[in-house]
Amino acid sequence: MNIVPLKFRQTGAGELIFCDDAGGYFRSTDDFLERYATDDLNPADRTFLKANGHAFEKAGDLAHSAFSYRWAKRLHAPADLNYVILVPTLRCNLACSYCQVSRVNQNASGHDWDEQTLNAVIRWLGGLTSETIKIEFQGGEPLLRLDVLERVRAFARQRFERAEFVVCTNLQEVSDEAWEFLAPQDTFISTSLDPTMALHERNRTGGGKITGQFVHNLNRALGNSPTRVSALPTFDIDALPEPRDVIETYAAFGFRSIYLRPVNHQGFARKRFRTQNISSTWNDYVRRFVMALIEHNANAEVPLEEFYFSHCLRRVLRGGHDNHVDLRNPNIVGSSYVVIDHDGAFYPTDEARMVTRLGQIDLRMGNVNTDIDRSIIDVLNAEAINLFDPDCVHCPYQAFCGVDVIDELSRYGRIDLPRHLTDFCQRHLAIFDLVFELLYSEDVKVRAAIALWSGLNSVDPELAKVHR
Ligand code: SF4
Repeated sequence: MNIVPLKFRQTGAGELIFCDDAGGYFRSTDDFLERYATDDLNPADRTFLKANGHAFEKAGDLAHSAFSYRWAKRLHAPADLNYVILVPTLRCNLACSYCQVSRVNQNASGHDWDEQTLNAVIRWLGGLTSETIKIEFQGGEPLLRLDVLERVRAFARQRFERAEFVVCTNLQEVSDEAWEFLAPQDTFISTSLDPTMALHERNRTGGGKITGQFVHNLNRALGNSPTRVSALPTFDIDALPEPRDVIETYAAFGFRSIYLRPVNHQGFARKRFRTQNISSTWNDYVRRFVMALIEHNANAEVPLEEFYFSHCLRRVLRGGHDNHVDLRNPNIVGSSYVVIDHDGAFYPTDEARMVTRLGQIDLRMGNVNTDIDRSIIDVLNAEAINLFDPDCVHCPYQAFCGVDVIDELSRYGRIDLPRHLTDFCQRHLAIFDLVFELLYSEDVKVRAAIALWSGLNSVDPELAKVHR
């Protein structure tokens, strides 16, 4: 019998979690590790490993094929280019303290698409091979260019079999025409809502009247269609609010998901906020927050999730859960989605746009008025995989984890720092540790939360296998 390689890590419960390269896992003891490492497995070990997909008799048999299938399913294959982030203007009517891009004042000139760029974008969209498209309008404040949004949406609706639009707006000033634009079922709103209303006012709106206007608009948007509105908070690592205050803020608006995100290191906000060496403080906060959510959900009529924890949990439970662009393996950028900036420049990601604007490294991929040029990005893409990383190959979480070369370029100016020293690795080690701790918890409140966040009715014992 051949046993697939197992990687292991201590858990909080004094045992070890073992994982294989296809994402199969179980919990076991130091004694089992000793038997495994010294090639002294007993019949019960062998039966367990075979029954649970960690062993096969010969290459090509059913167990081997099933393992290969699960392994392949863990790898992300980029689809046709079918997701585009458009930045028709850098102008904005707010000046939030942790704005990530170089927004300019509402009345500034020379920071919008001109007619030639708009026509080039429409021509370029028309040449895509995908039959579906998701178009996200960002800025600046994209509603300042409602005319451009209308022309792009009208074109995309007739060009693609299915088209979906997301307007990333601060919802500060929404004209009657803008509400009309936001009304159809294919159009979604993504806005910023800080962890508490006091923080929102301090960092974004700057005064009660403007805050009131935002709250009014957010409530109106939610009243029109609660399922088509999402909100994202930003957290200052040096002013982290009590988790229950954040949960109350989001629950009061009826949201079901909270995405914990510290101030982004890639953008201009890093000049005003601490964004480096934050992983230990941040990891403690995420843990405290998830535990507070579990308590909240135990009595709440409408339970909530922390988006990224749930996402990591689902990646542990099954392969192919690749819908979040920040956690994929390989994480090929500039392929299935691109950004087109206010000057027509292509970027592989919004973070690459910020890094370029800071002057750190030029990650532009050509211009919509000429063509896409992937030569620089493909050099990075060759490294955007964790399968051969000397740290990741020893890590039990490799099958669930990913890579983020643009974050590493931005933080360290290089992409070859030993992985365990990176912020990306330290955050993901902590979150997967928490995933496994909670998956194996016998606390009924934890089990209910894990089932909910996994999309299950209850946690099947098969999801928390133990071998002793
Ligand atoms: S980045 Fe860190 S947590 Fe992720 S697979 Fe590599 S070593 Fe493990």
